[in-house]
Amino acid sequence: MELTVWTYEGPPHVGAMRVANSMRDVHFVLHAPQGDTYADLLFTMIERNKKRPPVTYTTFQARDLSGDTAEIFKTAARDAVARFKPQALLVGASCTAELIQDDPGGLAKTLGLNVPVVPLEMPSYQKKENWGAAETFYRLVRAFAGGAGKPETAPEQASCNILGPTSLGFRNRDDIVEVVRLVESLGVRVNTVAPLGASPADLARIPQAHFNIVLYPEIADTSARWLKRQFGQEMVTTIPIGVGATRDFVAEVAKVAGVEVPQELLESGAERLSWYSASIDSNYLTGKRVFVFGDATHAISAARIASEELGFKVCGLGTYSREFARDVREAAAKYGVEPLISDNHLDVEDAIIAAQPELVLGTQMERHAAKRLRLPCAVISSPVHVQDFPARYSPQMGHEGANVIFDSWVHPLMMGLEEHLLQMFRGDFEFHDDAGSSHLSHGGPAAGHQPDARDEQAAVAAETPAPDVAAATSTAANDDQPSWTSDAERELRKIPFFVRGKARRNTETYATENGLNPITIETLYDAKAHFGR
Ligand code: SF4
Repeated sequence: MELTVWTYEGPPHVGAMRVANSMRDVHFVLHAPQGDTYADLLFTMIERNKKRPPVTYTTFQARDLSGDTAEIFKTAARDAVARFKPQALLVGASCTAELIQDDPGGLAKTLGLNVPVVPLEMPSYQKKENWGAAETFYRLVRAFAGGAGKPETAPEQASCNILGPTSLGFRNRDDIVEVVRLVESLGVRVNTVAPLGASPADLARIPQAHFNIVLYPEIADTSARWLKRQFGQEMVTTIPIGVGATRDFVAEVAKVAGVEVPQELLESGAERLSWYSASIDSNYLTGKRVFVFGDATHAISAARIASEELGFKVCGLGTYSREFARDVREAAAKYGVEPLISDNHLDVEDAIIAAQPELVLGTQMERHAAKRLRLPCAVISSPVHVQDFPARYSPQMGHEGANVIFDSWVHPLMMGLEEHLLQMFRGDFEFHDDAGSSHLSHGGPAAGHQPDARDEQAAVAAETPAPDVAAATSTAANDDQPSWTSDAERELRKIPFFVRGKARRNTETYATENGLNPITIETLYDAKAHFGR
């Protein structure tokens, strides 16, 4: 085992906790030493849940190791059932408790508890958090849906389950709302969403649906494959993150459900990313080099959006999800980059340095690395910090998800002033000539960026006079002010409206201080030179 300060994933029992915390009426008895209760903070402090997760720790201490730790487990399990009255009891051990080999599953069996017990085998030193979550969900699905027979007659209306969203998942809470909306607009009924928000009784209803949407394969792939084998439920595997992927997702759901895609869904106008990304201020980002790293689902989706929808150049792509390394390798091949499969954040930082990106899309870890390297960064994947569990609605999936992605990747990178305006006025005294077009380009054009017709449009726009509100109000405001010759006034109007007021004030100050009246074109340029020094 490698000791590290930061990890992308915790041990597998944290994955089990995520599933327990996602569900209703499930309780988890975790055989763990005192210190392991730290994991509660992920839910209360990072995800900002109102309650502690539904976990009872046995919290044995060092002095207990010479005594009967199995008895401590049995007492904790009995007490938890009596106190919380769950519909299902998960039992397992943390990394440390695994070493004392108490076998929580076997011990729970001897207790004759009046609740279904689902034992978890968590090989803490070989597997990690997402595997732990997937395994826990699979064990629960098998335990509760396994007894159900395949429904004899399927209901007439097509129906589906949405599998995978969990507690601590990146924007999973809001993604469910978007995906349910998309699916229902196709006339498909949502039978169950799990694990997030589901009870064990809901899991028992999973086989009643026609098919499963695997929203987050890191968590739901194992269960969905088993459900396919067991009940013949088809799997929808397109992840609707981004405009193109949402379109593909709708088409795949419609195909599996045997329904037509309503025209209004295609033309709803709910998605604004495409229009924005073709707009002038956005296309200054064309060709920007972007490095992408995260879980497999979000990294692959982000690379597609970056390349196909925002015109970036993917210069690095990787994941810490070893179970899905193959998918990431395939995606990397599409962009002609070497895939990075690693759970060592220092390797990722080295890869970022080598790739020389202008933008990093990653996890909380890459946010830190990018900050050190003074690169702009947007977070696209777990693990994340507290600010990435926003109070507001902020999905990644569906049409609204595409809008959120555009806002969070592009807007903060534009530094307030639109890029094309910076280009137009970089020679103005407001902006010294050495200034780059933005902080993104490090003072030079983006690699691979060629001026195109849209750049020319920006230049044309620069020639078009804008309404001179400032001029209309300030000339006659004060008789002590120097007057302007009509030539100087005309010249002033060529200055863009949003800096014109300041140019007027500066010129008048300069003229007053130097006893110049009226203000001529020459005065205007002398003032500009004076303030530009
Ligand atoms: S030993 Fe395992 S459970 Fe305990 S703190 Fe370390 S990672 Fe967490």
